[in-house]
Amino acid sequence: MTTVTDQPYRRYLCIVCGFIYDEAHGDPDGDLPPGTRYEDIPDDWECPDCGVRKQDFVLLEALPASSSETVISDNRADGLPNNAEQIVIVGGGMAAWALVENIRQRDLTVPIVVISRCSSDIYYKPQISVAATKGQAPDELITSTGEHQANRLNVSLVARTRVLGIDRDQQRLVTPRGGIPYRQLVLALGAQQPKPRLAGNAAHEVMQVNDLISYRQLRGKLDSQPKSRIVILGAGLIGCEFADDLSGAGHQVTLVDLALRPLARLLPEALSHQLTEQFQHKGITIINEMTLNAVEKHEDGHLSVTLTNGQHLETDVVVSALGLSPNIVLASQAGLEVQKGIVIDAKLQTSDKHIFALGDCVEHKAQLLPYIRPLKAQASALGGLLCGETKHYEGKASTIIIKTPSYPIAVWPSQEQGEWVEQSTDEQGATFLHYSHSLNEPPRLTGFALTGSCTRHVKQYEAQMSD
Ligand SMILES: Cc1cc2nc3c(=O)[nH]c(=O)nc-3n(C[C@H](O)[C@H](O)[C@H](O)COP(=O)(O)OP(=O)(O)OC[C@H]3O[C@@H](n4cnc5c(N)ncnc54)[C@H](O)[C@@H]3O)c2cc1C
Repeated sequence: MTTVTDQPYRRYLCIVCGFIYDEAHGDPDGDLPPGTRYEDIPDDWECPDCGVRKQDFVLLEALPASSSETVISDNRADGLPNNAEQIVIVGGGMAAWALVENIRQRDLTVPIVVISRCSSDIYYKPQISVAATKGQAPDELITSTGEHQANRLNVSLVARTRVLGIDRDQQRLVTPRGGIPYRQLVLALGAQQPKPRLAGNAAHEVMQVNDLISYRQLRGKLDSQPKSRIVILGAGLIGCEFADDLSGAGHQVTLVDLALRPLARLLPEALSHQLTEQFQHKGITIINEMTLNAVEKHEDGHLSVTLTNGQHLETDVVVSALGLSPNIVLASQAGLEVQKGIVIDAKLQTSDKHIFALGDCVEHKAQLLPYIRPLKAQASALGGLLCGETKHYEGKASTIIIKTPSYPIAVWPSQEQGEWVEQSTDEQGATFLHYSHSLNEPPRLTGFALTGSCTRHVKQYEAQMSD
């Protein structure tokens, strides 16, 4: 008799958003270890991209070999916006909606389609690393539903639908629900956090938090267990913000990083040390020059992480915050130029004159700027360009506000080699300026870092940077 376990692994397609569940890989973030058969998926499991249940998945290999997309579009293409003159924006995050606002300020009637694999609800993403201390539930961060925003801005919203490909010759997007034509296409695909490579039977339980869906999962675990033990891997901006916030909410946080000190790439050494002191004062444990090797789960459900020096830490949750990688796969499969991000020029144009990009997915002048201010500047320039204005995006660096209330920081990271010079430091805060030297020229101000009450002078230093 042949049993399920004798059969090769199969793949199932979410007919709502196009996510492919591969039994060989499982869905580690959704508690399905590699090798989990479709039959063994619990009924309450949700599609990682759109939240529907396993009943909305079909066996991929059972579809006629010609084209799985065509088969599904035959069933479901009804109602997809089909105007060859439309501007189509892929993505439902802040970059996509900021662009829509900018187009609508200039043109109330041009047809716009927003298509996204998520719900496209409106929330201010930076709030997810400051909400726990305030006792805000994840859903309280939503200020408007995607549907409401789409009605307000006269946009056709195709939510919970993944774009599978771009047919550049036909100027059409391929989705599981059918094709969508475009006159101009804008990619606002965001970025994702890289997964650490770890050994152990619970490596798949390490969480990455970069959107409301993953934040709900994190808070779901923490809110059911006050005073949880949390290990955060990565003491960069997002790791430090979560450490401060989750500690403020009463949890026991350990912050682990390979670097010598937290925020090593952004801050002068003295300020990293002051941040460390403030964190330690708050009860956060900081382990520098170390990373994780393995995560194991014990029978009672708690986790044990092993550090590279062999030390074990008992914990309830592990969060990894190792930076961001732009989502470039869709663009590279379509033959667009990509490096670390989707390469754009000053007109936000990719290597195809009909396709533009903005937000966390782009690379401009060999730089990634995954922050709100750059995406707003990009949306403003592109909104004008798509409405026939002459605009361009300069891609300037800008201040980064690090939301660690225990030790507020505003930093303008220098793009050049140079040195930090201490201007002033007292109990209220510190001011450090970054200077770069070129041969035979006086030193130039190329960055600054302000802490505590000195952060109120941020506008004054920003003005000096623009001079
Ligand atoms: C915890 C945290 C704190 C932050 N704090 C700050 C801060 O204080 N200041 C600051 O400036 N920045 C901060 N940021 C960064 C800032 O939030 C981002 O720069 C910004 O939200 C990026 O918006 P986006 O629209 O480019 O990308 P995203 O919000 O990632 O949106 C990408 C969209 O693309 C969709 N998508 C992707 N692939 C597909 C596909 N194939 N088909 C269809 N849809 C697809 C996704 O569903 C999503 O809707 C923070 C980020 C995090 C995670």
